Amino acid sequence: MSVKGAGVPRTVIVVGAGIVGLSTAWYLQRYGVGVTVVERDTVAAGSSWGNAGWIAPGLTIPLNDPSVFGHGVRALLDPQAPLSIPPTTDTGLLGFLAAFAINSRRSTWERALVGNVPLSSVSLDAFTELTEAGVGLKDGPKTEDAPVTALFTSEKRAAHLLMELDQVRAAGLPLSYAALDGEAARSQSPFVSGTVRAGVRIDGQRYVNPGLFTHALADSVRERGGSVVEGFRVTGVEARGDGFRLRSAHGETESADAVVVATGAWLGRQGRPWGVTVPLRAGRGYSFTAPTDGPVPGPLYLPEARVACTPLAEGLRVAGTMEFRDIDAPLAADRISAIATSAAPYLTGVDLEARTDTWVGSRPVTADGLPVIGATRIPGLYVAGGHGMWGFTQGPATGRLLARAVATGSVPATLRPFDPLR
Ligand SMILES: Cc1cc2nc3c(=O)[nH]c(=O)nc-3n(C[C@H](O)[C@H](O)[C@H](O)COP(=O)(O)OP(=O)(O)OC[C@H]3O[C@@H](n4cnc5c(N)ncnc54)[C@H](O)[C@@H]3O)c2cc1C
Repeated sequence: MSVKGAGVPRTVIVVGAGIVGLSTAWYLQRYGVGVTVVERDTVAAGSSWGNAGWIAPGLTIPLNDPSVFGHGVRALLDPQAPLSIPPTTDTGLLGFLAAFAINSRRSTWERALVGNVPLSSVSLDAFTELTEAGVGLKDGPKTEDAPVTALFTSEKRAAHLLMELDQVRAAGLPLSYAALDGEAARSQSPFVSGTVRAGVRIDGQRYVNPGLFTHALADSVRERGGSVVEGFRVTGVEARGDGFRLRSAHGETESADAVVVATGAWLGRQGRPWGVTVPLRAGRGYSFTAPTDGPVPGPLYLPEARVACTPLAEGLRVAGTMEFRDIDAPLAADRISAIATSAAPYLTGVDLEARTDTWVGSRPVTADGLPVIGATRIPGLYVAGGHGMWGFTQGPATGRLLARAVATGSVPATLRPFDPLR
């Protein structure tokens, strides 16, 4: 067992091999810290696998928008709605929904927006740093630069997105975007149908196959001397005088000077004993892949249907739905078909009935629209998660900032709004 030196850990265990945990491990290695990543299942088994793979800081608009909660109330009555809240007696979920409703005011939404912007502003840079260091370059997925094209059936809905983008830019995120009419939207992509009346092009964004990128990051952590232990479900975290001992469901143990828990939507169940009481629940989303008539030039966003479409090597990944349900509930096939039905009017040349790779995963959604990143009330025990809809985009930047806080003891100002003990 290593000895803690002057408050700076020489060894760290990261719990959770998603984009957030692996990014934190990767950046800790830059400070010479020895890292072990433990994962209950396999690398990218959580929501870092089948998500839409957008690295889109320009769209990191908080979810606790007053209009989203309005959708939620309607969703109670419509099982096909993009936001789904099944009838429940789960008091934890009811408490979360109440906290989410309280935070769905203009002022709290603006606080979440302003808090997230500095993190989003450095998101592309953190990805560039990882790829320039070789992550994903050896047979791995390439991150592609492309605008996101949002499609609408009415100009009024497009105006709402333009207004939100204005606010993102006013909050300090450099962003270029343009309104499109239906013809201009079709000229962006031959896969845009004749039903589309308006669009918005958001420039300077990126995308990648997220699961393959997360695997490439795990490979890089191993190549740089770290270990990634799969099948290690942490069931106990014991603080000892000189560090921590973690125990797995099978009785194995791992020890280190410090611990970072980056368990995505599972964090909501785990953080309370450490003083992390920010309500955090699984906002489950679904995706599938559909064949197309040819290469799709870039991501297509369907805000009215709350669907994201991403060109991947194997076809178009179509992702959507926000379902507040138990994290371990099985995939509901009717949610997949509801996504296909809602996307169909906007697209042409995509066979939405020939679906493969159907997937469900859990976004880690906090009630106040801000992630939880930083120290807990147990010295040496940190958490990183709760990025909701945008954890893939913000994961590497989160890892970079948290690694600095853990390895140097100095907390970057960007992390202050995300204090897990707030
Ligand atoms: C349909 C959909 C589309 C999305 N699209 C995008 C997008 O385009 N762009 C974007 O930025 N974001 C997107 N997201 C959100 C993004 O996927 C998540 O915010 C992000 O992946 C969260 O990463 P994470 O590392 O925090 O969690 P995860 O990837 O879920 O990783 C957590 C890991 O912890 C492990 N774990 C849990 N408990 C334990 C334990 N006790 N012991 C050991 N290991 C444990 C889990 O197995 C898991 O592998 C989307 C999400 C969904 C569902």
